[in-house]
Amino acid sequence: MSAPRDDFDAALDVASTRARAWLDRLDERVVRAEASADDVRAALGADLPDGPADPADVVRLLADAAEPGLVATPSGRFFGFVIGGTLPAALAADWLVSAWDQNAALRAASPAGSAVDDIAAAWLLDVLGLPGNAGVGFVTGATMANFAGLAAARDAVLARAGWDAGSRGLSGAPSVRVLVGAERHDSVDVALRYLGLGAPEPVDVDDQGRLSAAALEVALADDGGRPTIVCLQAGNVHSGGFDPFAAAIPAAHAAGAWVHVDGAFGLWAATSPRTRGLLDGAAAADSWATDAHKTLNVPYDSGVVAVRDPAAMRSAMSYHGDYLLTDAAYLEPYERVPETSRRARSVPVWAALRSLGRSGLSALVDRLCRHAAAFAAGARDVPGAEVLNDVVFTQVCLAFGDDDRTREVGRRLMADGTVWMTGSRWRGREVLRISVSNWSTTDTDVARGLDALARAAAD
Ligand SMILES: *Cc1c(COP(=O)(O)O)cnc(C)c1O
Repeated sequence: MSAPRDDFDAALDVASTRARAWLDRLDERVVRAEASADDVRAALGADLPDGPADPADVVRLLADAAEPGLVATPSGRFFGFVIGGTLPAALAADWLVSAWDQNAALRAASPAGSAVDDIAAAWLLDVLGLPGNAGVGFVTGATMANFAGLAAARDAVLARAGWDAGSRGLSGAPSVRVLVGAERHDSVDVALRYLGLGAPEPVDVDDQGRLSAAALEVALADDGGRPTIVCLQAGNVHSGGFDPFAAAIPAAHAAGAWVHVDGAFGLWAATSPRTRGLLDGAAAADSWATDAHKTLNVPYDSGVVAVRDPAAMRSAMSYHGDYLLTDAAYLEPYERVPETSRRARSVPVWAALRSLGRSGLSALVDRLCRHAAAFAAGARDVPGAEVLNDVVFTQVCLAFGDDDRTREVGRRLMADGTVWMTGSRWRGREVLRISVSNWSTTDTDVARGLDALARAAAD
């Protein structure tokens, strides 16, 4: 039997070789998967073997069976949902995180993990234009970032109403009202559900899906003195639009509300002078959620929550265990997030930021916006195509005449496989969404995307 060290070497060599081959092929392969989930299950084999297998063989089997069923989401020609790719430094750093296998819950369990957390947190607050002393937690995505931010919000507004949710729970508590734009992301609703707050009250939005500050003021005035949370959005998944923070946040604060901002991809507008204005006033909020696996292009899964008052974050997320060896003067990584044991999720974030630098980050955001604008401009020459949104950031929404035709164009585009764009419904119409979120998208990728659109839209 070989020494364990040899097993590591052989398995890691296979993984590295196969990973490089996958990355090499991203440029030319079709974006959609070529095998179905059933095909992959059959290739993997459904039965758990009785005996052990060679580690390198296991990795080889996995790569052989899984690759045909992979979607080329890290390709520069993937424009579906809101999905980023992976910057080289972030990917390699993520490999190290797995090899190091730190439990980054506690400074004592991983001094390096908490040091990287601290630096990445400070850099994020800086580049995102948020208060420098806010508490920052590294979570799995914007859903959990919304959950963590809204948990702090819930407890804080109830505490102001004289109710300690931590000890008394929600039974008998004053009812908390949550006001959201009618086009908030649905993950806000699920976070509120997890938090026992039920469904939010939608506030009217304009034709770009942006909350109406006037409608918010009317809703706030009608509150009957209830504890209130206002959840705003930076980056509508259809239009890319931003809520009017400069008007909405002071109005919400004047009414005693906590303001949370879901900026899963839009918060990154702060990193470029060209788009920063979209976030005017957003830094006055009380908590913010964003993703690192979207605009920043780190591997899944990576989200970030920031809370202005670190004590509110600690009291919502933390717990005490005598064996945990916490440092009372320091907000431990696990005290900022729902998880206890956790991978050192800040490491790829740090590597992405360190490899881009300030100018590289703003150039990345500018490039995504430039490609989105090029799609919108080019789509105007595609017969029958209509651009439905003001393209202010990275999202473009297209329609091709009636709903049936828009769906048909989407089907043909997916069958073609050159690019991936996703269908949706927006403002009562079937649409085809283009989300430019991948650092590696080139002008050529955009041109190929426009050609594919023209082919799909041809009679
Ligand atoms: C993607 C997204 C979310 C959810 O983020 P996950 O990373 O999938 O958890 C929330 N809000 C907005 C605006 C999004 O785009």
